[in-house]
Parts: sequence; C-alpha cells; structure tokens
Amino acid sequence: MFRIFAEPASSILSKTSGFIAEAGFSHSLTPARNCTFGCTYCYVPTMRIYAGLKPADWASWGQFTTFKQNAADLLRRAIRGGESVYCSPLVDPYQPVEEQQRLMPAILEVIAARPPRVFTIQTRGPLILRDLDLLRRAAERTDLRVSFSLTTNREQVRRWYEPHCAPFEERLEVIRALRAAGIRTFATLAPILPCDPEEFAAAALEATAENLIGDPFHNRRSKPHGATTREQAERVSGVRGFEQWHDPAFQAEVVARIAGVARSRGRQFGIGPAGFRWLACSAENR
Ligand code: SF4
Repeated sequence: MFRIFAEPASSILSKTSGFIAEAGFSHSLTPARNCTFGCTYCYVPTMRIYAGLKPADWASWGQFTTFKQNAADLLRRAIRGGESVYCSPLVDPYQPVEEQQRLMPAILEVIAARPPRVFTIQTRGPLILRDLDLLRRAAERTDLRVSFSLTTNREQVRRWYEPHCAPFEERLEVIRALRAAGIRTFATLAPILPCDPEEFAAAALEATAENLIGDPFHNRRSKPHGATTREQAERVSGVRGFEQWHDPAFQAEVVARIAGVARSRGRQFGIGPAGFRWLACSAENR
C-alpha cells in the first residue's frame, strides 16, 4: 500500500544542469517528490539531496510520494514564455496516484494559457490519455511532445524490473493513441532492459513516427559520479542471469543492433543527451 502526501512547494521551475541541460532544456518541472512506480533501476534516489529528496525518499523509494499541491499556481507565476521545459527528470508526472491528485490537468491549463517555447512530458503512465484534450490544446500553443518510456518487449522481464508499470503492449497502444491525436510522441527505450533488440526496436518504430531515443543501464564502472542505476536492479540482474546487460561492451552491441533496425526504416536511434535533444529543440530549430 502506497502512502500519499501533499504539501505546498516554494518553487516549481528549476534551471537545468547536467544531462537535461546538455540535451537543451532550460528548465525542469517536477510535480511531486518520490514516485510510486518504484522502478528497480530508477536513478533518482541515487542522487539523494541533489534531486531535492529527503532521506526517507531514498530509503523508501517508491513506497510513498509527496505531491506539490500548489504546482499550477507556482507555474502560473514563474513561467515567462521562452523556456524549454522537461517534465520531469525526477518523477513520473503520470504515476498512478496522479489519477486522484489531478495536478497535471491544472499544469496543462497553465501551459496552454502561458506557453513556454517547448514543453516535454516524460512518462511511462497510460494515465496520460486521460488528459488528451488538454494535451491537444497545449500543443496548439507550444511545441509539446511526449517521451513515452518503453523498456523491454519481454513481459516477464518487465515484471521483474518494474512490476508497477504497464505491460509493453499497453504502452505501445498509448503511443499510438497519442500519435493519432496529433501529439508528437517519441518512444524512449530507457533504460534498455534485457530484451530482443530487433523485435523491440521494430515494435517501437511501428508505434511512433519519430526517431527512437534510448539509454542502456547507467553503470558505476563507466560513470563514477552522478546518477546511476539503483542497486535493486543490479540484484535482479544477478539473480536472473542478466549481468551482461550492465556491461558497456555488451550494451554497445545492443545499441548498434537497435540502431541498425532504425536505419533500415530510415530513422535514427539517439543515445543519451544526443537523443534527448530531439525532445528539446523547437520546431523552428529542428
Ligand atoms: S517512473 Fe521514472 S521516476 Fe518513477 S520510479 Fe520509474 S524511473 Fe523512477
């Protein structure tokens, strides 16, 4: 059972740094602290205070969440119009309890009324379809795009690493529905969990009309500082015999195989900030 809290925040738009800034976003918008999807690999709790977390958040990641109840009011006062906003690097804005909290409809109303240059929603939550009309309205005023996470085409693997997230087929359906509604929707293969790379890539390319974006597991051996894969995912990989999916050389092979499938269909597969840059550039700079 998850515990849900709500409290006022003092600010809502943060200037970016690191990965998201490198991708070209000027600001991030994080509507809650802690995320009840609770993915085993989530890098956010490894950032601790640098992600604005409190000790209870990283000690009990995924077991509770604290919504910023005044998020829309703060946004209305903070937004100026030239921003390129990523929502969110630190929580899924459509985590399951957003169904009751309903922060995103109010945020999207503000985005439509006072549009930034770019507004990108990063999610793996099918709940986003609840807000389709609001997304359409916002897309008329700003460069709105959705980056929808896919992690594996193998359902058992999905259950081991992210048991609270939707199945692969349902996620493909969400991408198709957003696309059919005219929302620019990218499939973001991140992190790349153990999968069948060619089948995984082909299904993602069929669902989206865009290039593919992705990232393998982060890895302390090749990335000594900053956010990294949570130990819980390393334990799952150890128990299930998937250690090689954390090995940079093996990851490079998988990336090359996915890129090959994308190329054969006239598209690209962008890794890390280079891929996420497609989410940050406005239409006139594409
Ligand atoms: S949905 Fe994103 S923010 Fe939430 S636990 Fe999973 S990886 Fe972390």
